[in-house]
Amino acid sequence: MFRCKYCKSVDKFELMFAPSYNGNRNFSQHYNNRNQIEISVDGYAFVPSLDFMNEHAVCKYCGQTYTWEYEFENERRKRKWEKTEDKITN
Ligand SMILES: [Zn+2]
Repeated sequence: MFRCKYCKSVDKFELMFAPSYNGNRNFSQHYNNRNQIEISVDGYAFVPSLDFMNEHAVCKYCGQTYTWEYEFENERRKRKWEKTEDKITN
């Protein structure tokens, strides 16, 4: 998970693209078998890195770019993942 340094929102990977991104912006996400979120952008699948986020993702809460840091709050992350998994499977 990534957190915005400006507004402290935790990204839920409802990805918004930086204005300089040139692709078609077809975006989807799922969890792989290691319980990592995997993102597909224009047919290219990857586990998002901090570099990717800072190059391509805009914070949808405050509109800032280059604002991401890792969020290592394990309990919160676990709870969110369980919630997300419920949504996916149900
Ligand atoms: Zn923000």
